Amino acid sequence: MKRVHNFSAGPATLPLSVLEKAKKELVNYRDKGASIMEMSHRSPEYTEVNEQAAQRLKRITGADDDWDVLFLQGGASSQFMMIPHNFISADKTADYIDTGSWSSKAIKEANLFGNVNIPFSSKESNYSKVPGDGELNHSDNPVYTYFTSNNTIFGTQFQKEPGTNGSLLVCDASSDFLSRPIDLDKYGLIFAGAQKNLGPAGVTVVMIRKSFLEKQVQSPIPTILNYNTHITKLFNTPPVFAVYMVNYVLEWVEEKGGLPYFEKFNTEKADLLYNEIDKDGFYRGTAELTSRSKMNVTFRLPSEDLEKTFLAEAANNDLVALKGHRSVGGIRASIYNACEMESVKALVDFMQDFRKNNG
Ligand SMILES: *Cc1c(COP(=O)(O)O)cnc(C)c1O
Repeated sequence: MKRVHNFSAGPATLPLSVLEKAKKELVNYRDKGASIMEMSHRSPEYTEVNEQAAQRLKRITGADDDWDVLFLQGGASSQFMMIPHNFISADKTADYIDTGSWSSKAIKEANLFGNVNIPFSSKESNYSKVPGDGELNHSDNPVYTYFTSNNTIFGTQFQKEPGTNGSLLVCDASSDFLSRPIDLDKYGLIFAGAQKNLGPAGVTVVMIRKSFLEKQVQSPIPTILNYNTHITKLFNTPPVFAVYMVNYVLEWVEEKGGLPYFEKFNTEKADLLYNEIDKDGFYRGTAELTSRSKMNVTFRLPSEDLEKTFLAEAANNDLVALKGHRSVGGIRASIYNACEMESVKALVDFMQDFRKNNG
């Protein structure tokens, strides 16, 4: 069996050990004569999976009892609507930091429900940076401060949490959740679509602080869109197979050594790539140096023709899914937790050869 070096931005590569485990159990889960996909979401088997996944997430992130873990559907994009629906209204303002396409989509939805203040936007520089200290123009009393911790498309990442003017943070961590330790005290809600760093597509992990829910709006919220509906019990059928896979990815995260391990591992991988990019003028990083992402490494070549050749030759060497998003162009290497060091080394070797032959 041959597996490619997969740099897909999402759905992204998964740990091979997790895939193998699922394969083994696929048609006959724990000798029950049925797949976990074919069992009731209220069965003892699935209940154990769901609870284990939630407990593991709390352990990995260091969350206390004020936190709840929800496994929701509708993708990370549904949270763009669900968050403002629950927390803002015509007389309540939230601050939204605009650092890319995903933030601006969230801002569009928030505008449907309440007041939105934008303390910072890097739109004019094609989202090549995140804000530095002192660059945020907050509103007086924001209900929350919203940010996208890693900008998957533009290859930028907050190196630390932004200021909040006294509010709690709400974070779209879809593309860097569990890639490094997190200071949960600063957060009210964190969400992540699983398909980048946590598992397969189909489930969105939402961590929510119960005390933050006290800030919920008084106006009616449709039942399924109200966070309270999902706390303490399963309201409807969760995406059982996706949660089952996430549970095994979380087990793998713990076995590897948790968030400190992944921070070090991801830094090593990103350093290897950026060192190669910065060697001379042939490759050119698109993000400002202090905003560079350790998850999505974006760069250009001297011409679009060379970029096309680069992608084609890379694919011939089993280095796949390296095409940048159309709004940035060029090359994007997504190197999430499950991307092996071996894959990054193979890419760097290829980049060296390509420069030698074309530079
Ligand atoms: C991929 C992505 C999304 C969208 O996720 P869906 O599950 O497709 O809705 C949102 N935010 C960020 C940061 C992403 O990388």
